[in-house]
This record gives sequence, C-alpha cells and structure tokens, in this order.
Amino acid sequence: MSNQFPMKLAGQPHQAPVASLPIPFIAARDYARLGPWLDALQQAMPDEKIVPLAALSDAEKAACTVAIVANPNPEDVRSLPNLQWLHSVWAGVERLVADLGPTDLKIVRLIDPQLANTMAEAVLAWTLYLHRDMPAYAKAQARSEWAPREYVRPERKYIGLLGLGALGSAAAPRLLSCGFQVYGWSRQRKELAGVDCYAGLEELPAMLARCDILVCLLPLTAATRGLLNAERLACLPKGAALINFARGPIVVQQALLAALDDGHLSHAVLDVFDTEPLPATDACWQHPQVTVLPHCSAPTDMQTASAIVAANIARFRQTGEVPANVDTALGY
Ligand code: NAP
Repeated sequence: MSNQFPMKLAGQPHQAPVASLPIPFIAARDYARLGPWLDALQQAMPDEKIVPLAALSDAEKAACTVAIVANPNPEDVRSLPNLQWLHSVWAGVERLVADLGPTDLKIVRLIDPQLANTMAEAVLAWTLYLHRDMPAYAKAQARSEWAPREYVRPERKYIGLLGLGALGSAAAPRLLSCGFQVYGWSRQRKELAGVDCYAGLEELPAMLARCDILVCLLPLTAATRGLLNAERLACLPKGAALINFARGPIVVQQALLAALDDGHLSHAVLDVFDTEPLPATDACWQHPQVTVLPHCSAPTDMQTASAIVAANIARFRQTGEVPANVDTALGY
C-alpha cells in the first residue's frame, strides 16, 4: 500500500547524516545489469558513494542504514544488521516481501510517474488491439480471408481496471480520453473522475459482469493470488477479453485456458506468468486466443528510477524520514 507522504521512523531519534557511508546496491548475484544500475544511481547521487554489497567493509556493513535493491538474495540483506530500510528499484515487491518474511525493515518500492505513464500506454495499446479486433484480422489474413467485422464505438466498450493504484489510476484517464467507458476496482473505494468505482470482493462480480475488457493491475498478495479463478472468469460476459499486466499467479491459468477453449472468453493478452521466462512447453505459446508478451508492458526506466531513489535518500539523509513503505501484512 502506498501513499505519497513520508513517515518518521517510530522510536528512531533523528541523527546527523553520515553521507560518507557508502550505500550498497544489492542485486541477485547473477544480475547482468549491476554495472549500469551502479552508474545510473551514482550519477543521480553525486554526493553519495553507491557500491556493490561486496565492496563494503565489515565496519561499513555494521553502520549501513539504507540499501538499494533489485531482487536481492535475502541472506545479503540480513548481512546488514542495522539496516533501517530498503529502496527497491522495482514497482512490484511481492518477491522481496516473501523472501524477507516477517521483518521490522521498511520496504520502499518504486513509485515512478514515468513507469505509470509507460504502463498506461501499454494498457491503451493492448486495449485498442482487442477493441479493433486485431487478433481476428490476423487470423483472417492467415486464411487469405477478406472479412470485415462490425465496428463498435469505444463509447460502447466497457473496460474494467482491477487495481486503481499508481498504475491503474494513470491508465484510467488514457482510456477515458479515447472514449471508452471505464470501471475500476480497489480494496478501498476510490473517487476518480469519469471512472465508475467498485470496491471489495463483494462488489467484484457486479463489475466483472459489465466488462468487455478486463485489465489486471493488482499487486500479487495473499488476497489476490488466484483471484481470477474459474468462478470469477465466468462472471465476465461471453466474448470478454483479459489483459494481465500485473503478476501471473493472480490468474488461474488452467481456468483461463478453459474459458478461452469453451468460447466464454475471446482472447487474453498476458505479459506475466507463473514462471518467467515462460517455458517453451507452456500451452500459452501456441494457443490461438492468447497473445504472449515477455514481461515488457512497463519496464523500469533506470534514469527516472534513479532520480526518485536519489530524492528519497537525500530526504532521509537530511531529515531521517523514510518514504511511505509497504504494509508487509497486506503485502503491498
Ligand atoms: P499500488 O499503487 O500499490 O496499487 C495497487 C492497487 O491494487 C490499489 O488500488 C489497491 O487498492 C488494489 N488492491 C490491492 N489488493 C487488493 C485487493 N485484495 N482487493 C482489491 N484491490 C486491491 O500498485 P501499482 O504501482 O499500481 O502496481 C500494481 C502492480 O503492477 C505491482 O504490484 C506489480 O506487480 C505490477 N507491475 C507490473 C509491471 C509489468 O511490467 N508487467 C510493471 C510494474 C508493476 P487500494 O487502492 O484500496 O489500496
């Protein structure tokens, strides 16, 4: 769960900044982009020293209060006994939350307007792909078939957004600007101009029943894992389509493929999967009603992400305040 306001660490008296202490960037041990991230972070924070974890001395490890992470090995994080908070360079932190388990450590995820903008573009692009029947025209071309389909104005298409956080709330105005009708669903009810907002599990079936295209932008948590199962997919109207840009396990893949096979759903655009990269044997690759994307809908932009991390760390150095962080009990 995120809000824009920083929080003071409870019970932590503010101490003078120790800007000379290096800040470790901790990534998976085989991470190929360690060097470019170190460069981008260092450029964004010329007054700090950004180093790989292995470059810290034991004394520096003991004194370290903040680290920047990208899928870190939890053992590496635990090697910093006085760490107060972690800044992830990813927007989704479910793996980090699960890997670290119950912890007092504050986990700050990336909230980057550039990433939200990129995701909004992807939502619009693939909504238009489905809206303008591109999968059907591609199949018709493969059969050398000249087969115009009925045009339906966007004003008569209902797009449902699951999740109205940083990403969902940026996608909604893009869809509205193209004339689509937009529904949104969140845990707590939102008010968003032009969006018909639903909240909580009890209101989900009613929203699903109205959606021509359902777009998933939820975090993966205990409450959202398996959310789109056979029962909920059956709530969608016949011929509806699904776009999943969030996390694979939110959708029960077997139930989705069954709903596509029996004609209840028309198409699915999937950017995320239970296992990534998607194994070559997975049924999605060859399924005629599935578009497979390689987790590309909204990649982190290293430069804008580094600037956001830099601003959050500068504020911490100056005031001792940790940015809004993940509610580890809720998982987002
Ligand atoms: P966010 O700001 O935390 O927003 C999450 C939204 O989901 C909020 O509206 C929240 O409701 C809602 N939600 C969470 N649990 C819910 C539940 N049980 N029932 C109903 N609504 C629930 O997250 P975000 O920045 O928009 O990102 C969402 C996810 O997108 C990330 O967690 C990540 O997994 C994924 N992502 C994917 C890509 C990609 O390239 N494919 C890139 C970036 C992110 P409230 O508003 O009531 O709290």
